[in-house]
Amino acid sequence: MLKINEIFYSIQGESSYSGLPTVFVRTTGCPLRCTYCDTKYSYFEGAFLSIDQIIKKISSYNTKYVCLTGGEPLAQKEVHLLMTELCQLGYLVSLETSGAKSIENVPEKVKIILDVKTPDSGEGQSFLFDNLKWAKPSTEFKFVLCSETDFDWSELFCRQYELFEKYSVLYSPSFGQLSPRRLAEKILEKNSLARLQLQLQKYIWTPETRGV
Ligand code: SF4
Repeated sequence: MLKINEIFYSIQGESSYSGLPTVFVRTTGCPLRCTYCDTKYSYFEGAFLSIDQIIKKISSYNTKYVCLTGGEPLAQKEVHLLMTELCQLGYLVSLETSGAKSIENVPEKVKIILDVKTPDSGEGQSFLFDNLKWAKPSTEFKFVLCSETDFDWSELFCRQYELFEKYSVLYSPSFGQLSPRRLAEKILEKNSLARLQLQLQKYIWTPETRGV
């Protein structure tokens, strides 16, 4: 059984799957408390569902894209079983994870969107460095930037660990904190190799109307 906060159908707003109709499975619980967290309702609220019940709900939507998000999906061990079954059924599965939990046992076919929390997120010490060993070529590293200081810190991090050479790196401005335009200017000024990523869902929906 997995504790699930919600399952809904919407447009993927982030990663290289951005824009694709996707079923989102939001798990309950997260060990972190980022300053900008917009899913605080997922910390505790939810209902226990079996893998079969989750897959039945997913299959009621007409898409092959499934995104496991949270909360922190990897906070519940059984999520590995869910990912394995979804891959076997032919779904294209992405996993959004905070970077604080090990990605070692994530099934090969799953696309991992791996956050690296910046200092101004309030969780700048949370990154599990072993994850650098487990990242796959398809892994996308995501930095949510709250300030220009966060930008400078992220550039250093990416260069120190050669992320630009090995992976896709996404810089996303924290909504309402760092303007997309300023971040775009910084990327150009500093010849960064990161890809500017806007949280598409924030421009389409209100919290009350984000999909079905
Ligand atoms: S990792 Fe995600 S769900 Fe957890 S506190 Fe941070 S933003 Fe919220």
